[in-house]
Amino acid sequence: MIRINDIIENIQEKNRDADVDIVNRAYIFSAQVHAGQTRLSGEPYLSHPLEVAGILADMNLDVVSVAAGLLHDVIEDTDTTEETIREMFGDEVFNIVQGVTKLSKLAFTSSEDRQAESIRKMLLAMASDIRVILIKLADRLHNMKTLRYHKNEDKRKRIAQETLDIYAPIASRLGIYWIKRELEDISFKYIDPDNFDRIQYFVEKDMTGRGGYIEEVRAKISELMAKANLKCEVLGRYKHFYSISQKMYTQSLDFDELYDIIAFRLLMHSQADCYNALGIIHSHWKPIDRKFKDYIGRPKPNMYQSLHTSVFGPGDQRIEIQIRTYAMDEVAKSGIAAHWSYKEGKTIDDISNQKFAWIQNIIENQENTKDPNEFLENVKIDLFPDEVYVFTPNGEVKTMPKGATPVDFAYMIHTEVGNTCTGAKVNGVMAPLKYQLKTGDVVKIITTKGHHPSRDWLNFVKTVKARSRIRQWIKIQEKARSMTLGREMCEKEFRKYKLNYNDLTKSEGIDEILENFGYQTLDDLVAAVGYGKITPLQIVRKIIPKTETEEDEKPGSILNRLIGRVRKKKPGGVLVRGMDDILVKFGKCCNAVPGDPIIGYITRGYGVTVHKVDCVNALKMNPERRIAVEWNQGEKEKYPVRIHVQSHDRVGLLADLAMNITKCGANILAANSETKENKIVNSFFTITVEDTRHLNVVIAAIKKVKMVGEVRRITG
Ligand code: MN
Repeated sequence: MIRINDIIENIQEKNRDADVDIVNRAYIFSAQVHAGQTRLSGEPYLSHPLEVAGILADMNLDVVSVAAGLLHDVIEDTDTTEETIREMFGDEVFNIVQGVTKLSKLAFTSSEDRQAESIRKMLLAMASDIRVILIKLADRLHNMKTLRYHKNEDKRKRIAQETLDIYAPIASRLGIYWIKRELEDISFKYIDPDNFDRIQYFVEKDMTGRGGYIEEVRAKISELMAKANLKCEVLGRYKHFYSISQKMYTQSLDFDELYDIIAFRLLMHSQADCYNALGIIHSHWKPIDRKFKDYIGRPKPNMYQSLHTSVFGPGDQRIEIQIRTYAMDEVAKSGIAAHWSYKEGKTIDDISNQKFAWIQNIIENQENTKDPNEFLENVKIDLFPDEVYVFTPNGEVKTMPKGATPVDFAYMIHTEVGNTCTGAKVNGVMAPLKYQLKTGDVVKIITTKGHHPSRDWLNFVKTVKARSRIRQWIKIQEKARSMTLGREMCEKEFRKYKLNYNDLTKSEGIDEILENFGYQTLDDLVAAVGYGKITPLQIVRKIIPKTETEEDEKPGSILNRLIGRVRKKKPGGVLVRGMDDILVKFGKCCNAVPGDPIIGYITRGYGVTVHKVDCVNALKMNPERRIAVEWNQGEKEKYPVRIHVQSHDRVGLLADLAMNITKCGANILAANSETKENKIVNSFFTITVEDTRHLNVVIAAIKKVKMVGEVRRITG
């Protein structure tokens, strides 16, 4: 078991100024609260946080991380409260410990490929501080090293698979390749013990078969470097078993067909030495084309720096060689975190207080990465994601766009779930359907059979799927409604002309009529009537000669006729959602004008009538026939509107009023006025305006006329 003194020495070796007091205090506290607990191995529980802290120190992390590592299990596994940690060790340690605890509570039941990426991203997104992830990796590494004490084989396999799917790739992305390799090999051993043993056997056989090949190459390299006066340390090893097995698998090769399974690492004292060493290697052994990578000149986004080459070594055997400085090798131990773990003597408070400020620093320091977006894409850690990751009750992770709601979630599960969803429980508590989901939320959708989507949902859903499914549903509903309505209207109109609707629909003549109107089916024709695209009378006229039906136009006042004429010009100014080409009329009661909030009503026989939403008549109408309409911004039309002007009588008043109205570009369709005995004149105008703004201009102009008192629009 590692001792606390080893850890402290390790830290001080790298940074003499490190304030190890907090590490000591964390150790004492952890020892106290874990006292009496044991691991499955039978060892005292304290061995676990100690080993984790040791790994963190190996990763060159700062004292806060190491202290948090010592405390990482105390909230979950002891009686210690969060408040105690905060009071004793400060906000920074507390936040990290809390973050680790939060992640430990997540249970992934499924780790299919598709899921794994979401889970990885979610873990990264949930960690407010990258050190939370690093502690999680160290924790997992030690747990894997002691996995053999788990009695249940299925459980061992499950943990190993999760490690392989989730944690090893995270270590890799963060640039901590040594942890990635260890995690992969241990996982491999539990997931596929037969193949693990096989490769172990092959490697051992290869080692004896080649008889000290690694030693031979190491000695040769050392000799070459010494000749050139380059100080250098040479390490040689077989690649890790998991990567060997992956090579065999992906390239369908037998073990003896594999090449460069032996890798050498040269540790140099300067960057220049690295390039010199590379030149020497290449002039001595023939490099394999296209196998050279300069990660020194062009570091990986996760800070990794090294030269990689593959050459035909002694006996024409392919070997891989990595060349880097000691400093680069140290960086590789902490990966992306190296950026701040190496700032000697400087506390990282200032940097890490800000969420993920570190990545900003890295972007700024990466001269070779021109485009920060491209950089982020390359690392593939969406640290500022436009995404949130939420769970189904079964622990499946769903990736949703930021701002997504339970309705989006419901549609993501299944269209039917979306269509019938009536409520949602988020983390066990009822939440409104427009609640914005957060990463880590567990969402349970409540459905009620027979329930339907609501048009309001369109105002808050974020996903394309939800939006299009809701629209689709509304469209289908509206068609069904229009068909019922159209049928009703036809039957009524037909009766007027002593025709039988049912007979017609069964007669042969119907095909001709359909063709005449350009519809394929009777349903479409009837729906068109319901939508108001055609009137039942038009159908009747196809059946009976025209003369017999000509009694349409009803006599009305001149004013109504005038207004009627304006209206008959098809108003392109209103859009009926989801439908084009519908007969639209304006209610005479309220005379809506662009700028007014409006609502449509499907009338019996004359398409859609548009009212102001607050029109008294509109409020009385059957809600079943309501339909959303909106102003078509692009269209410039003139709309009639009635106004009432109250003024004192004087000579030339009406002429002045008329002039001021027309000056503003409004037409007067009708006017009348009455003078009362007290010389008060009430004038009523019907004028045409473009929209409410235009109307306000006109009203303002009228108000300027001498002796004018009140001016108001008349609606209803
Ligand atoms: Mn732990």
